[in-house]
Amino acid sequence: MIDVVVVGAGPTGLMLASELRLHGVEVVVLEKGLEPTQHVRSLGLHVRSIELMDQRGLLERFLAHGTTYPLGGYFAGIDHAVPAHLDTAHPYILGIPQPETDCLLAERALELGATVRRGSELVDLRQDRRGVTAVLADASRLRAQYVVGCDGGRSTVRKLLSVPFPGEATRVESLLGEMEVAAPPQAVAAVVAEVRQTHKGFGAGPSGNGLYRIVVPAAGVSPDRAVPPTLEEFRRQLVAFAGTDFGVHSPRWLSRFGDATRLAEHYRVDRVLLAGDAAHVHPPLGGQGLNLGIQDAANLGWKLAGQVAGWAPRALLDTYERERRPVADDVLSTTRAQGELIATEPGPRAVRRLLSELMDFEDVNRYLVEKITGIGIRYDLGDGPALVGRRLRDLQLGRSRLYELMHAGRGLLLDPTDRLSVEGWTDRVDRVVDSSEELEVAAVLLRPDGYVAWTGDDQQDLLDHLPRWFGSPAR
Ligand SMILES: Cc1cc2nc3c(=O)[nH]c(=O)nc-3n(C[C@H](O)[C@H](O)[C@H](O)COP(=O)(O)OP(=O)(O)OC[C@H]3O[C@@H](n4cnc5c(N)ncnc54)[C@H](O)[C@@H]3O)c2cc1C
Repeated sequence: MIDVVVVGAGPTGLMLASELRLHGVEVVVLEKGLEPTQHVRSLGLHVRSIELMDQRGLLERFLAHGTTYPLGGYFAGIDHAVPAHLDTAHPYILGIPQPETDCLLAERALELGATVRRGSELVDLRQDRRGVTAVLADASRLRAQYVVGCDGGRSTVRKLLSVPFPGEATRVESLLGEMEVAAPPQAVAAVVAEVRQTHKGFGAGPSGNGLYRIVVPAAGVSPDRAVPPTLEEFRRQLVAFAGTDFGVHSPRWLSRFGDATRLAEHYRVDRVLLAGDAAHVHPPLGGQGLNLGIQDAANLGWKLAGQVAGWAPRALLDTYERERRPVADDVLSTTRAQGELIATEPGPRAVRRLLSELMDFEDVNRYLVEKITGIGIRYDLGDGPALVGRRLRDLQLGRSRLYELMHAGRGLLLDPTDRLSVEGWTDRVDRVVDSSEELEVAAVLLRPDGYVAWTGDDQQDLLDHLPRWFGSPAR
């Protein structure tokens, strides 16, 4: 029996596979596509995801393949400077096309020993008290302790579980593709600037190698968005919106996407869980979907690993849904708000102007940027000090950096007092005696996903909190 089968080798599934492998969990990733997709959906990573990559020792690879941009226009494209001194060592956007992100995450999962089976489509699932049987399109079967559906917005896993996916259906469909244009760059830029005054969903910009990434609203909502548009359809829509088709030709890929906004009612049904787009979909405004998915994976990985290894306390796996579903709910809500704010009618424009004025207040500006970048997340871990439930920024310590100590994905007690002990949990939790001027508490216990589980200086209080996240002490 395999420990965990992950369905879908998108960013969520690949990140999850790596997180599980860090704990020695046997992972098989099933992916129906024979080759990685070259469709460029996401264009970048936000601060919290960049921090996660740093926590896993992956940031240098990502920086080498991406470009850093200042964090401007982060909310509904409102052009407003971000507050000075964001609470992060990485106050930027990392521009990196999704195929590069997927490729780096796949490379990492393979390095850590995950098995990725391409051309393997899951078509059925049966679970019983001991495990889950996954049935593939070629009628072969796999038996696993747990299955995680990371199989995107049209998730087969979610449908097989009959998990309701309430929300709003697609009302506006867009065409997206990469192609060459005959028109000169200045002419394209001028037309795009003009059209975007009234249609924020329109865009065309260079994407490298002489190609343009173009997005234009479709004529209607198609019955199956998996069927790509033709170049002719693209041309028609460009003419309808811009009065010219820019002489587009030689497309590398063409696709459609909708603006459906939906959230799964449950993230877990016994031994089967959902993560990423399989659990939540929303329009790409604010660029948060992929970020949300890889952060789901970071939250779930160590908890599921603890479950497989047998040390997880009974309620640990359920905290995944309890913590991550409200985060997705909030992203959906923020995305809906941004959808209203980019409308060009007088009413929404007036609200946009008002919000822009409100962003002059530093607290408002900070609140919004922390929301979009994911660094404002506070999981509800019950009453406790202000830091508990929040992620901790990277800190310069006497001998190293905090995030450098987290590459192995284990719990971490940072103990400047040198008086605390994690004896009994040393197989799950590292203890480091070091200090930082930036640390505002005596000592801090971090979960493997970088969120604060406890702060203080009292050994008995620490002993009371360790079992909640790391189970019983080893004998
Ligand atoms: C135009 C556009 C722009 C976007 N821009 C951004 C952005 O800037 N920032 C951002 O954070 N997000 C952005 N997103 C969202 C982002 O692309 C998604 O949120 C992200 O891809 C979700 O990752 P995932 O791994 O959960 O799902 P997916 O990337 O959809 O991967 C799911 C995988 O599962 C496989 N699969 C499906 N069914 C099966 C099956 N039955 N068996 C086996 N395999 C299966 C699929 O082939 C696929 O490889 C954008 C989306 C769009 C459409």
